[in-house]
Amino acid sequence: MTKYDYDLFTIGAGSGGVRASRLAASYGAKVGVAEEYRVGGTCVIRGCVPKKFLVYASEYGHGYHHARGYGWSADNVSFDWKALIENKDNEIDRLNGIYIRNLKNAGADIFQTRATLKDPHTVHLEAEDRDVTAERILIATGGAPWTDETVPGHDLGVTSNEAFHLDSLPGHVVVAGGGYIAIEFACIFKGLGCDVCLVYRGEDILRHFDADISVQLHAELQRQGIRVVTQNIFEKIEKTDGEKKRVHLSGGDTIETNLVFWAVGRKPTTRGLGLEEAGVELDKNGAVKVNENSQSSVDNIFAVGDVTDRVNLTPVAIREGAAFAETYYNDNPTQTDYRFIPKAVFSQPPVGTVGYSEQDARHEFDNVDIYKTNFRAMKHMLTGSEERVMMKLVVDGDTDRVLGCHIVGEDAPEMIQCIAIAVKAGLKKKDFDDTVALHPTIAEELVTMREKFVPSDEKLSR
Ligand code: NDP
Repeated sequence: MTKYDYDLFTIGAGSGGVRASRLAASYGAKVGVAEEYRVGGTCVIRGCVPKKFLVYASEYGHGYHHARGYGWSADNVSFDWKALIENKDNEIDRLNGIYIRNLKNAGADIFQTRATLKDPHTVHLEAEDRDVTAERILIATGGAPWTDETVPGHDLGVTSNEAFHLDSLPGHVVVAGGGYIAIEFACIFKGLGCDVCLVYRGEDILRHFDADISVQLHAELQRQGIRVVTQNIFEKIEKTDGEKKRVHLSGGDTIETNLVFWAVGRKPTTRGLGLEEAGVELDKNGAVKVNENSQSSVDNIFAVGDVTDRVNLTPVAIREGAAFAETYYNDNPTQTDYRFIPKAVFSQPPVGTVGYSEQDARHEFDNVDIYKTNFRAMKHMLTGSEERVMMKLVVDGDTDRVLGCHIVGEDAPEMIQCIAIAVKAGLKKKDFDDTVALHPTIAEELVTMREKFVPSDEKLSR
């Protein structure tokens, strides 16, 4: 035991903070954890987990239509938003309880309060109005959605935080953004029967993904009736009759809507924590600057997860938290490996992706081979849906190594988790070819793509 109250004090009990705290406590450290909202953090309380429940709910909306082709009839189908939210909340309460129990069972003290730094070793617990000291402090406060305050009426809109507890399902929703949250919620609302308009400032949604994913998903959103307006931003939002709002777009259009939804990104939660006063350097977005050991510019202050704005995904925060605990409380120096992290967008149809996009691969490698396919899945031959699947392998033409895999289509996230093992392990296209297909599946196409894709302008010049 040191001269401090705690060996480790963690501010923020989300995925990264909880993993680090639990592990450190299990290795014998005296650990305190402060959380101002609910233990579990964004992922469990108002992110990945509740979002996935809304996605499941929304998929049934399409499922009822598809089932007709298979002989089912479901007349007078109705949907109860309040029942969904109540069931979802019950499950979130259960998970929140598990997170609290796990921390306590590991021996950590939990403080339900906002905590701020007084100096590099002192944390002020606001609810109790007292200070505690710690040898090391871990900042794991995550991030939060932001709205563009320069837009008049911006506060008439909601963010994902509020979307999980809307009183009722809106008839019409207009969403700002073309990233993960914008697209996932646009699809959720559409599947639940709302009219949806997505307004994106650029040309191609999911700008950081492989270009074929952007094109394919854009087409799929439009196919299911989501209006996608590109190269526009919100210029002004105003209240009209009753609860309705009118959104003025930069291109001159106006949209009447029931719900304005901001999904223009998230920012690290560092404001007012006393970090800069304690000497912790932040980047221009307010993220804590850290080295490969998650150590900040102050030796005994560390940070993991979204507050560091490295790769803002739950499993990455968990890895960073675990690496920190292993390094400093288990004498096992560990660093997080950021290469070939699989990613998914839970749109409908969903996206799964791992490794290099075609555009990034062409930038870094001399010879890049592309294998891709685009087809209507067998299931939809009877449903009548025109939904299509896109699959793509990006291969290093010199070594035959598979550099990336990109899928838009049913079960893409499930497929990509498995394919990520092969891609991370450095397997070659020949290994994919040598694997016998599993028939009839969508995934079998991943091992049966034989012909290199030749862009049509190249074909013409031959
Ligand atoms: P993203 O960074 O994915 O998307 C933000 C979107 O907002 C982009 O399309 C961006 O445009 C646009 N944008 C940014 N600033 C403005 C502005 N001033 N006016 C108009 N549009 C703007 O953020 P999200 O909020 O969707 O998600 C945050 C993070 O959370 C993600 O990066 C991801 O790491 C994580 N997340 C992961 C999920 C998953 O794993 N399935 C699900 C949800 C979130 P542009 O592209 O041009 O920059």
